Amino acid sequence: MPTDINWEEAIKPLLKKYKGKRHPLDYANVYQLLVMVVLSAQDSDRHINQLAPKLFEAYPDMATLSHATPDALMFYIQGVRNAATKAKWLIGIATSVKTDGGIPLKQDPLTALPGIGRKSANVIMREAGAAAEGIIVDLHVLRVAPRLGIASGTDAKKIEQQMMRVLPQKQWDAGMAMSFLGREICRPQPKCDLCLMNVVCAYYNSNKH
Ligand code: SF4
Repeated sequence: MPTDINWEEAIKPLLKKYKGKRHPLDYANVYQLLVMVVLSAQDSDRHINQLAPKLFEAYPDMATLSHATPDALMFYIQGVRNAATKAKWLIGIATSVKTDGGIPLKQDPLTALPGIGRKSANVIMREAGAAAEGIIVDLHVLRVAPRLGIASGTDAKKIEQQMMRVLPQKQWDAGMAMSFLGREICRPQPKCDLCLMNVVCAYYNSNKH
């Protein structure tokens, strides 16, 4: 089993494979992206992609969303996990930022908005092309990173910190790359023989597969 991995080198094939690949949420601009990221928490990207067109027809930007009532918004997002809470969050966000141009693209002001944690902020900043201030750790990364051996434990914040320590900032898109790997190859039942990371992967090399 490989022990002393140079992750800055080892992560390069993964970064190359998924470089510039868009997030599966089918958004048209940063406003739509932010709304869809909030809605997709604990729900599926596919579900949110399905309901998004009608939602954005009714609320095409932050300004219109800021005038929504929770009941009116619920009509478009019913069926989403925790819809009532998310409706309040979205109206709270819209009231706070007021316009699409008011959406902040930095970690601190984004996470100060209701319903947006570090992971969501990292996703929004990545897709908007802002400089990374962290590494995306979603449910896929929570599974993939410990398998790879680049991080350990089950706490998203600690996993993010461990990866930020071993990877330089220019490689912080590794989180989204691991998320794509987790969606395609490193599924709960991993397809290790097809995986481009199996040479360095702790799970694969520990003969657990
Ligand atoms: S080798 Fe297997 S366990 Fe390791 S990252 Fe790839 S799919 Fe996941």
